[in-house]
Amino acid sequence: MSNYNWCHGPSCHTQQTQSRVRGSGDNKVLRTIKIKQGRYNSYQNGIWDYFCNQSCLMDFIREHITSIIAIAPRREALETPIKVVKEKYESYRYNWNNGYQNQPDRVPYMATRTIIKSVDNDWSILYVKWYENRYRQ
Ligand SMILES: [Zn+2]
Repeated sequence: MSNYNWCHGPSCHTQQTQSRVRGSGDNKVLRTIKIKQGRYNSYQNGIWDYFCNQSCLMDFIREHITSIIAIAPRREALETPIKVVKEKYESYRYNWNNGYQNQPDRVPYMATRTIIKSVDNDWSILYVKWYENRYRQ
């Protein structure tokens, strides 16, 4: 088994860089980049074991997008269960009309923010229920 892959970028071998030049004399070529497997320790599921750079990755995707999508087509939307919580908090607004010596008055008020809570585990569901009970008016 080889510990190397050739870059899968369809035009990797046409990029004019010194690192791609092979051969001697009048028999020089630009060659596809050879990639050592595991060079980034499976970063991003090992995608960089197959592409020397982002340009080659995008060239590959552009050329093969129809086939790639056919592997795992999405025919309906996915959904993630959430809880939406309205939370009140003290904020300030500035009144520029009747401040002292042209300085604005800092006026407190109760603002509301909307928080999207994950319901992936029981703790976050319990937290949301506790929160709703605590602030139910
Ligand atoms: Zn490449």
